[in-house]
Amino acid sequence: MLDKEYDIVVVGAGPSGSMAAKVAAELGASVLVVEKKRAIGVPVACAEGISKPVLNSLMAPKPSWIATEVVGAIVTTPSGRSCKIEHPDAGYILERKMFDRDLAAMAVQAGACLLTNAEVVGLLSENHRVVGVEVSHRGNKKVVRSKVLIGADGVNSRVARWTSIYGELLPEDYHACAEYLLGRVEVDLGYTEFLAGNEVAPGGYAWIFPKSEATANVGLGISPHLTKKKPFEYLDELVEKRFPHASKLETISGSVPTSPADRLVGDAVMLVGDAARVSDPMTGAGIANGLFSAAIAGRVAARCSKEGDVSRKALSQYEKEWNKKHGKDLRYRARAREVFLKLTDDDFETIFDFVEKYFDGKIVRELRPRQLVVPLIKSSPRFLALARHLM
Ligand SMILES: Cc1cc2nc3c(=O)[nH]c(=O)nc-3n(C[C@H](O)[C@H](O)[C@H](O)COP(=O)(O)OP(=O)(O)OC[C@H]3O[C@@H](n4cnc5c(N)ncnc54)[C@H](O)[C@@H]3O)c2cc1C
Repeated sequence: MLDKEYDIVVVGAGPSGSMAAKVAAELGASVLVVEKKRAIGVPVACAEGISKPVLNSLMAPKPSWIATEVVGAIVTTPSGRSCKIEHPDAGYILERKMFDRDLAAMAVQAGACLLTNAEVVGLLSENHRVVGVEVSHRGNKKVVRSKVLIGADGVNSRVARWTSIYGELLPEDYHACAEYLLGRVEVDLGYTEFLAGNEVAPGGYAWIFPKSEATANVGLGISPHLTKKKPFEYLDELVEKRFPHASKLETISGSVPTSPADRLVGDAVMLVGDAARVSDPMTGAGIANGLFSAAIAGRVAARCSKEGDVSRKALSQYEKEWNKKHGKDLRYRARAREVFLKLTDDDFETIFDFVEKYFDGKIVRELRPRQLVVPLIKSSPRFLALARHLM
């Protein structure tokens, strides 16, 4: 597999890398996916929530991918008030171990080659253009040549930094996350719970995503520039309060990008998924956007490598399509996050009053953020001053 030339080399076999590889291989490109982990999908660094309509629009989910179906949400304020919103068919809590592994298997089935336990440790460049990667595998370093390199190497993408598409992420550009898979918990199966508040998760939120009647992903993401405390300090306080008898089956940490990147491509290089910072700046959810970005990138990469033009200009067709379909929404959510960072605990209580009244007795079928945000902003002079530009 190594010491060869491929049309496309993908760095990382997370969901985005596997999707890009699958789409490109289906279009006839020769593809190699290089994954540094020994086993795909583990450890899981995710709360595993995904919108049901969105996943269904991408592919038919296998039963083994689904831990549980989400039929509503619980919102909890800093003072501990809660309300339940009924939202049938809202989403799934996935089994990412199965999901990620099956996506990689689908890429292989489509004709892509996959090498696990192999880390991309550098780029191969000629005339200022990337022409391949250096791979470390079982103690040996090998070179693999590529026409197009796809960086699907997650948040803190080295491909992005090596190619100067963007630099180091600043603390205000990501959520630092901590999560436990807890056992021996009492949860409302089918309902995801979201907790806001500057004592709970400054600049972010906490979540309780039930996976079964007795287990749940319980975690939080904070904006590291707003606090000196570490995410696990906040999480341990929450767990002690809410689930004093729980046991920690898994401990997970990670980051999610919260500010979209200006560029997604360079000469002979593309970024997808978390590496491209396409996750939702408000929620940090990145699986679906990662898959969407990868599907476009895989198609454009296959076509450009076949036509022999892998210049930044040719590959920017991916950027254009991404921006047309998702860019506007992502930028809106990034502006909404800037407002969110300014909210006080009193503001969260006021928003809760509004949300409770808005959803009272309603069964939500589809939720568009603007539907809720515009009347909320109009409801108070403070919100109007803070967020007029979101209307
Ligand atoms: C605590 C937490 C909770 C989350 N909860 C949710 C949620 O509920 N819903 C949601 O939609 N999103 C959630 N996310 C975000 C979601 O996990 C990511 O958006 C998603 O995994 C991105 O997929 P990806 O394929 O782009 O990157 P990743 O899944 O990060 O995959 C990148 C892959 O690249 C590999 N790699 C990296 N560098 C190299 C290298 N040099 N050589 C070879 N391989 C390399 C890595 O090993 C990894 O397998 C959460 C994130 C965190 C941290």
